Amino acid sequence: MIKCPKCGSDNVSIQVVNEVKMVRKHHGILYWITIGWIISLFKWLFFTLPALIFKVFGIGKKYKTINVEHKKAVCQTCGKVWEVK
Ligand SMILES: [Zn+2]
Repeated sequence: MIKCPKCGSDNVSIQVVNEVKMVRKHHGILYWITIGWIISLFKWLFFTLPALIFKVFGIGKKYKTINVEHKKAVCQTCGKVWEVK
């Protein structure tokens, strides 16, 4: 039985949250004028090209997108929410 770390109550409900995270980086115009395009070029050369080559030879099959599953506990007594592993 999981107990609330705040109030000690065992009236806790577990919620499973499936989270797909999308990370986007925002860069300013100055970044793109100076080094942004160089990094993009290198990224393309070192990641996109090998990825395409791997795809052709079927090497990239072991790489998958992973869903991250979170378990969240919600205390019904005091309303505290924390993450459970
Ligand atoms: Zn509580």
